[in-house]
Amino acid sequence: RAKDAGRNTQCFYDANIQQMITEQLELQQDLRHAMNHDELELYYQLQLDREQQVAGVEALIRWHHPTRGMVMPGVFIHIAEQSGEIVALGDWILQRACRQLVEWQNHATRSDWTIAVNVSVRQLRAEDFAEKVLITLAETGAKPDKLVLEITESMLLVDTEQVIEKMARLKRVGVKFSLDDFGTGYSSLGYLNRLPIDELKIDQSFVRDMNQGEHHKVLIRTILSLGHTLSLTTIAEGVESEEHFRSLLALGCDRFQGYYFAKPVPPDQLP
Ligand code: C2E
Ligand code: MG
Ligand code: MG
Ligand code: MG
Repeated sequence: RAKDAGRNTQCFYDANIQQMITEQLELQQDLRHAMNHDELELYYQLQLDREQQVAGVEALIRWHHPTRGMVMPGVFIHIAEQSGEIVALGDWILQRACRQLVEWQNHATRSDWTIAVNVSVRQLRAEDFAEKVLITLAETGAKPDKLVLEITESMLLVDTEQVIEKMARLKRVGVKFSLDDFGTGYSSLGYLNRLPIDELKIDQSFVRDMNQGEHHKVLIRTILSLGHTLSLTTIAEGVESEEHFRSLLALGCDRFQGYYFAKPVPPDQLP
């Protein structure tokens, strides 16, 4: 019986893996098509300051697939990363975000908003990454100091010197950098202060657990004090309740992003 069960389980997994691979290949092909057929869209999620004023937004990609409906980035970004398609996709995203900044430049309430754009590791590693960003800024006319690039700690483990150089080049014209999902990676505090970053973004897993007990809160407190010691802005993602917001406010967090305030929406649905 155990043997039968084992064999069944085996079949089950094989079929699943086969299906997964097929689906990934399909998505990979569809994605190439998607960029040229208007299936991709940037959604924006508000980021608020301590007075609950909107300070900016994070751009989050959405794919309106012709047969699958909405596909979330968690499903296709890593596929695009593997196929290399992410470089073209990343260019498209950056251009869209910069054009959005320009559209907002003369807007009554949005002219000061920043747009945070997630950058993937393949993009950041590309030799011409800094040039590309500079060219996109110049071509669109977006103000560099309204653009925030979100990177993660793991991206800084390889080619660290080259990456820092590219970041420094962009920082000189006013582009800002945020360290996304902070606390989940491998940062050694030693190199944190060598990085040309402006903001620490506390991962939502810490926020989710923060009211589960004092020892969870200690983690957030530590990240916030680290950020402030290094003169960095701190922002929490995944703020889902008033309780989260109040606790983070009391701990001195500078910025807030999460479903409690707003879900990611297309630009025409922003307040
Ligand atoms: P991320 O950059 O850490 O983005 C935060 C994710 O948390 C987003 O999911 C957002 O919708 C979600 N979120 C926001 N507030 C809450 C909340 O209160 N509760 C919960 N449970 N979740 C919340 P999304 O849009 O599905 O994006 C997932 C990830 O995909 C992003 O994580 C980012 O790593 C990647 N991604 C999204 N857009 C892009 C993009 O344009 N380029 C690249 N390279 N990656 C992207
Ligand atoms: Mg992000
Ligand atoms: Mg994040
Ligand atoms: Mg995250």
